[in-house]
Amino acid sequence: MKSCLVFLGPPGAGKGTFAEVLSADKGLPHVSTGDIFREEIKNATELGKQAKGYVDSGLLVPDSLVSDLVVGRLSRADCADGYILDGFPRTLPQADLLTEALRKLGRKLDAVVYFKASDATLMLRLTARLTCSHCGFVFNRVTAPPKTEGVCDNCGQRTLCHRPDDSPETARRRLEVYARETAPLVGYYREAGLLLEVNSEQDRAVAAMDLKKVVGA
Ligand code: AMP
Repeated sequence: MKSCLVFLGPPGAGKGTFAEVLSADKGLPHVSTGDIFREEIKNATELGKQAKGYVDSGLLVPDSLVSDLVVGRLSRADCADGYILDGFPRTLPQADLLTEALRKLGRKLDAVVYFKASDATLMLRLTARLTCSHCGFVFNRVTAPPKTEGVCDNCGQRTLCHRPDDSPETARRRLEVYARETAPLVGYYREAGLLLEVNSEQDRAVAAMDLKKVVGA
C-alpha cells in the first residue's frame, strides 16, 4: 500500500474526512495543518496569535510559519512508516520545501491524492458544513447531518459548530486562494508521476472506496 501520502484538493473536497477514514483504517497519522492552526488559535499560543488573522479571513498563513511546523511533525517517529499530510503543501515553495525536507529525513512521498469537485458543490458543502471542535469529525447540515442535532456521532460531545471561515464570503475567498496558489500543484505532482485522482463529487462512501483502491489499501 502507498502510505506516505499528501491529500490535495480545494477546501470542501473532503480531504479531512477521507484522511480520518484512512487513518482509522490503516493506523497512519493524520497531519492536518488546518487542525494544527485551529488548536494553536484555541490555545492562544504565539503561533496561534500570528496565524489567526490569516485563518479567519481565509488567506494562507505565510510559508515561514507553516514549514517548520510540518517538518517538525514529519520528523517524529510515528511518521516513519507513513503519514497523511492534509492541507500541506498549498503553494509551490511549500512543495519544494517538502521534497527537500523528506530527502534530508531519508523519507519519501509515495503518492499525492487529488480530490476533485466543482466550485458549486464545494460552496454548498462549505457553507453547510458542521465540524466537531472536539474531535474534528465533519458533518453536513443537508447531506450528512448528525443523528442527534448538535451532538457529534463520533465522540458524543455537544461540540458541533460552523467554522467561521466557512461563511459564504470567506469560503469564496478560500476557493479563490486555492485556484491561485494551490491548484498549480496538481500539474507539479502529475509531472512528478505521483498524482492519483479521486472524484469527490460522488457519494462519500463511494469516494472512500475509490480512495482505498487508488492507494492500494
Ligand atoms: P484547512 O482546515 O486545511 O482548510 O485550513 C484552514 C486554514 O489554515 C487555511 O485557510 C489557511 O489559513 C491555514 N492553512 C492550513 N494549511 C496551510 C498551509 N499549508 N499554508 C498556509 N496556510 C495554511
